[in-house]
Amino acid sequence: MGYLHHYGSAKCVVNTAYFMRQALRSLSTHRIDGSFTGVTERLLHGHHAFRKRAGTEGDYLKRLALEGQKPTALFIGCSDSRVIPEWLTGSSPGELFVVRNIANHVPHADNADSSVGAAIDYAVGVLQVADIVVCGHSGCGGIRAALNGVEALPPKHDSLREWVGNIVPAIRSAVDGGHEGEALMDRSVEENVLTSLDNLTTYGAVAERIADASIGLHAWVYDLGTLALRVYDADTGHWADARTLIAPSSRLSP
Ligand SMILES: [Zn+2]
Repeated sequence: MGYLHHYGSAKCVVNTAYFMRQALRSLSTHRIDGSFTGVTERLLHGHHAFRKRAGTEGDYLKRLALEGQKPTALFIGCSDSRVIPEWLTGSSPGELFVVRNIANHVPHADNADSSVGAAIDYAVGVLQVADIVVCGHSGCGGIRAALNGVEALPPKHDSLREWVGNIVPAIRSAVDGGHEGEALMDRSVEENVLTSLDNLTTYGAVAERIADASIGLHAWVYDLGTLALRVYDADTGHWADARTLIAPSSRLSP
């Protein structure tokens, strides 16, 4: 990184791009001759299949491209590959503005991660989403890491250590509650979601929308094994099965 200190900013950009290209060439010459790793090839086949499927929705997707997005909700979920917001909510492209990070955490605005903060500002202040959902999930590795403590993480993973360090205070009340084992995990997942909702209210764009009662905030927890969704009821302080909150006529069989 020494070259960063020797060049002006314009040259620095040029040289950064040069070194990136050199690194890509040295690491992946097999990609330049048109062949791919198995994983990459599978992804490209997947994209081909997606295009064929999505072609049947051509008018809808073209309209989205031409008219721009008008998502109805900001969905803040975990980066975990098993938690796919559009799948578990039956949503289509254009419906959810999504932020995913480790353990679906929203830091307090005073300690904001600018990527998370920018997405909140844009979704709430510009796109004017009607609702924000923070969705945790069972068996969350980020929450487990916070329970194990930052010192248990690899020493050179500075970003991971910093991020997990943000989550530790968010689950303190669950830890202090005397729970153990999976009960402690479950309570910690819930507590992190509720703390994240509290933290959302510290962002100016969210506070404005709360003040004029034009936005709803929702805490969810998704169970990977049973596919069940628990929704927090702020009036009772309890978590309810999502199926009990929808009209009986539209409920699916368990
Ligand atoms: Zn997770």
